[in-house]
Amino acid sequence: METERSADEVFGLLSDEIRLDILRTVALAQNERKQTGVAALSFSDIYNRVEVDNTSKLSYHLGELTGIFLRKHDGGYAFTHAGEQMVRFVLSENYHQPSDIGSIETEGGCQFCGETTVRAVLEDQYFMVYCTVCDRGANAYRVRPAQVRERSGDDLIDAVIREQAADMLKARRGVCPDCAGRIETDVWDAADIPFPEERPVSFITMSECQDCLRFLSLPLPAAAAYHPESISFHWEHGVDILGSGVWEFNRYFHDGRWSSERADTNSEEYCVELRRDTSSLRLFLDKSAVVTRTERVRRRDQNEYQS
Ligand SMILES: [Zn+2]
Ligand SMILES: [Zn+2]
Repeated sequence: METERSADEVFGLLSDEIRLDILRTVALAQNERKQTGVAALSFSDIYNRVEVDNTSKLSYHLGELTGIFLRKHDGGYAFTHAGEQMVRFVLSENYHQPSDIGSIETEGGCQFCGETTVRAVLEDQYFMVYCTVCDRGANAYRVRPAQVRERSGDDLIDAVIREQAADMLKARRGVCPDCAGRIETDVWDAADIPFPEERPVSFITMSECQDCLRFLSLPLPAAAAYHPESISFHWEHGVDILGSGVWEFNRYFHDGRWSSERADTNSEEYCVELRRDTSSLRLFLDKSAVVTRTERVRRRDQNEYQS
């Protein structure tokens, strides 16, 4: 049975073309047989598909992979979680550099000057969004090679939006979008963060996976905006939160429609207000940015924010 192996031993098992070929072969077979549930490939099927000198060599390699990347199933070999994750990484070729995306102009918002046209570029493997007027940053998010390979322009923007929104939804519920481990979130006073010198938002959430160290950060109003009550509130007012880039939310910080404050002085409870037309949604969050209650308010002072 499986014994605990160190990371270097586990990765050492993969530095062999025949073993990678075995993993690819099992994935392709699984794909071909998708109608029949978990696909286990028999020894002879693998031998027929993989280029290997003889059965004892194949037997040796399968023995090395079994327990870590493969498991015995139904008289054949199927993936473990690690095997599945590794083979998807290999098939997607996400170990390459993402290709350049040029400069894509799109809608968004600059939280500093209020400009609503931004440009997206690839920088240090990150999808960076900059204001087209003052050139200050509006957002940064990771981009992987497979994401860029068959996409450009609006199609790529949409792919980044969808991934970012799905990641945030999971992180807001404490689930790491990468490893499914536990994400813990703290609320920070923006004044305690040495960037930037102008602070259009008062509070920021910092979320970190306790297992894989994945880190995500959002202005507190944006974190609150992913709550189901806000998604529904905005949808009723013609705004699709899950179909918007985080860089689009900046315009609501700039015009004051989205704001956050402490519920009371020195309180560790926060109140976020999200305004639309003549109504507001208030969300109360604890020090871990968990929404504890919400209320809808009809507003009389429509001019409270500049629209
Ligand atoms: Zn700007
Ligand atoms: Zn994680």
